[in-house]
Amino acid sequence: MKKTVSFSRDSANVFFHITTRCNLTCRHCYINRDQHGDETLPLETVETWLNLFARRSVKANIVFLGGEPTVHPELAHMIKKARKLGYDSITVDTNGFLFNDILSKVTPQEVDYFSFSLDGATAATNDMIRGAGSYVACTNGIRQAVTRGFSVSVIFTVSQTNIHEIGSMGPLLTSLGVKRFFIQVIGIRGRSAANRTENLQVARNDWLGTVPTAAEEIARQGITVTFPKVFLKAGDRFECAGRVADNYFVFPNGRVYRCPLCEDFAMHSLMVDVNRLTEREPINENDLFQLDIPEGCVMNKLIQPDNLSYRPDGTPKYRIACCLLKEEIAGYTLKRT
Ligand code: SF4
Ligand code: SF4
Repeated sequence: MKKTVSFSRDSANVFFHITTRCNLTCRHCYINRDQHGDETLPLETVETWLNLFARRSVKANIVFLGGEPTVHPELAHMIKKARKLGYDSITVDTNGFLFNDILSKVTPQEVDYFSFSLDGATAATNDMIRGAGSYVACTNGIRQAVTRGFSVSVIFTVSQTNIHEIGSMGPLLTSLGVKRFFIQVIGIRGRSAANRTENLQVARNDWLGTVPTAAEEIARQGITVTFPKVFLKAGDRFECAGRVADNYFVFPNGRVYRCPLCEDFAMHSLMVDVNRLTEREPINENDLFQLDIPEGCVMNKLIQPDNLSYRPDGTPKYRIACCLLKEEIAGYTLKRT
């Protein structure tokens, strides 16, 4: 059954970019070194920052990401430290190359999920976006992780270039032993914002006509599917996660954002400064979160307005949801009676 995943302040979600280094150069990469730094954080710094965020809430979930987090030779120590600090769930987002023999340095008890990025059901489509050889490396990485007993999820970023393959992902995910599937929508930030000649954004009709049906179909194969709502229906409530949730997007240069769509700008509301988490003076992203506009998400209107549409009187035809608002369909299989 489909449900909307409500925002909550009962637990914190920490998205910790421990490095911005990566072996790939994906076309839609959101990493922006001018804004996020080009450091790889030393182990001691990561441990100190993990401690800071663990104390922000009674329950906290952590996602290690980059860049490619497995290029960090001490990722395994960071995972073990996060476990000791009591993080409720630990996920590693990876492009699948799994450097530094990470799978043999941690156990399935220490990592809740390895989450692999795959942007096509075929090598042709995935590699056009993520680079030659990345499909084979990623699917091999998934097989290795599953064989070693790790829980594995896949993240697929939908854009104009690969939306036609989302419906073919089910059989691939099943054959690979994937338990969860996360669909994301392309954000016009990082490299996608720098290269605006390529229109990657997905039109409303294309999204609504493809993604929810594909998600339902994949869930029917026993895989739990999460996908962003993106386009609100009349009567749906709009909420900005910056106001009602507890998310931290942490970068190696110490910037901490509450909203991923703000990450191309120096609008972060928090900063890790000499190992203390401090609030920044206005004006920052917090001031934008307070604005109520008829289009819904303020940042969407500012950085990716091509998904909006207006009536002749200038009012928007629909509102855009917070980019963090998700729907989830638990995996199930139909039983013969
Ligand atoms: S999207 Fe991820 S894997 Fe691709 S270049 Fe960026 S950090 Fe690397
Ligand atoms: S994406 Fe929009 S609605 Fe969501 S946190 Fe950012 S500004 Fe708020």
